Amino acid sequence: MLTGRMMSFPLTITELVERAGRFHGSSAIVSVQSDRSRHRGTYGDLAARSAQLASALTKLGVGPGDRVATLSWNHRQHLECYVAVPAMGAVVHTLNLRLHPSELGYIASHAEDTVVVVDHSLWPLFDRFRHAIGSLRHVVVVPDKGEPVPEGTLDYEKMLAAEASTFAWPLLDENAAAMLCYTSGTTGNPKGVLYSHRSIVLHAMAAAMPNAMGLGVEDVVLPVVPMFHASAWGMPYAALLAGAKLVFPGPHLDPASLVTLMAEERVTVAGGVPTIWLGILALLDAAPEAHDLSSVRTMIIGGSAAPASLIDGFAKRHGLQVTHAWGMTETNPLGTVARVKPELRGEPARELAVRATQGFAVPFVQTRHVDDQGKLLPWDGKAVGELEVRGPWVAASYFGDEGLDRFSPDGWFKTGDVVTIDAAGYVTITDRAKDVIKSGGEWISSVALENVLMAHPAVAEAAVFAARHPKWDERPVAAIVWRPGKSATDEELTAHLAGSFAKMSLPDAFVVMDQIPRTSTGKFLKTKLREQYGDILEKAVSTGL
Ligand code: ADP
Repeated sequence: MLTGRMMSFPLTITELVERAGRFHGSSAIVSVQSDRSRHRGTYGDLAARSAQLASALTKLGVGPGDRVATLSWNHRQHLECYVAVPAMGAVVHTLNLRLHPSELGYIASHAEDTVVVVDHSLWPLFDRFRHAIGSLRHVVVVPDKGEPVPEGTLDYEKMLAAEASTFAWPLLDENAAAMLCYTSGTTGNPKGVLYSHRSIVLHAMAAAMPNAMGLGVEDVVLPVVPMFHASAWGMPYAALLAGAKLVFPGPHLDPASLVTLMAEERVTVAGGVPTIWLGILALLDAAPEAHDLSSVRTMIIGGSAAPASLIDGFAKRHGLQVTHAWGMTETNPLGTVARVKPELRGEPARELAVRATQGFAVPFVQTRHVDDQGKLLPWDGKAVGELEVRGPWVAASYFGDEGLDRFSPDGWFKTGDVVTIDAAGYVTITDRAKDVIKSGGEWISSVALENVLMAHPAVAEAAVFAARHPKWDERPVAAIVWRPGKSATDEELTAHLAGSFAKMSLPDAFVVMDQIPRTSTGKFLKTKLREQYGDILEKAVSTGL
């Protein structure tokens, strides 16, 4: 082999911190605080404070590879942990503040966290599992409203104030671990995904590209997606790379607070799961003129399927463009983006259908789908099978070597998503394998049904799940949340669906509720629906209904 003559320069987060200070010192970082006031800082502050944090953590004995956990909302101190901890050679472990204390105790112990940085407002939660973390040496509390931090803990701000604002960042191997994120564990115990510097940097570069989020110095980026959810989809790192203004919502994630923030900070790109955007669309529909969102270039929606009616509603009624993307904790997380290729533009219905797919793979992520026997399926938009991916920011194994069955012998990761792939490479998720509805041997796509149900004028939210059936094994049942002041009969909903689906695919029953239960990352929680209503059809049969 004739070796190339280029430098082998490491791709590390250190470069992001150094660039932040050197080139984008005046780029803004806005953080909404718990009292709703907005803290205004800059990348220059981030660079200086990251150095202070690294010095302080070094004094606490944090060394290479040690896990420093965060239990925090999205804000500037969380960002400081995102950069300083990996750049000093340690690993930032983001704890999901929506989990149960027992789950958090399991995860923090499994990760062997040595230091935890926790928001003062989350102390009551932390207090319920801190004793379970055998490896814990120090607790650092991010103070709130100047109140003294709990006894035996360190005050984050005081700790930083005692340090110099420069730090001799070590030269790191790009394959060194940088961040640890756990999957939600809806199937078995949560599993740790250990990102490397290289995977985070390459992912941030791909995320910043025009075909993905398309970020530059003029952008204003709002990660609504929590920083504990798959590195907030890499948005903070991609923004740093681009020198874009960053806006953090803190704990205020209700539609009104978010829309006000977007309007006042002139946000250009925001990212979050569909349930967040469903709420925002309802708010905008109720008062279309009340908010000036003219600065918004796109809203990145992922985490679960963005219904076509949501994409269409934003575009048609409010002139706002959605970018639908797919990813997983195991893929750092960006995998595919539904960018509409020029040859697919022109006809509105087709364009909308393309936007509602999960999109095609971003560069260096490869996709394929296989049947039950592992046989490769054709990219014809019809053959249904499990999606597998590989690439430089796809996990090669889990922390602690659990879940080995998710990795194929020939180097692919089995996503557990059931999909079709068309000739142009667009992936369409029909279900998660664990949510699949198998009726009399046929698969019924819950995602497709939800998409059409959510286009009904009376329906605000819909989640379709499998209920047990004495004859067909399983049949679809739809959980429905009405739009304010609206409703429809079962017959009307069935008639609405009948235009798009064969009779055997139509739900056997509709369950109306105030809110569909959600997972810790804001997705519809179908396991809960199955738990509560899984026997609804058996009951109906036995009572002769
Ligand atoms: P969890 O949902 O278990 O908390 P992740 O956030 O890693 O963990 O979720 C990854 C899963 O989310 C994917 O396997 C897929 O099922 C689902 N998902 C992500 N993005 C989309 C999307 N755009 N459309 C449909 N499903 C999606």
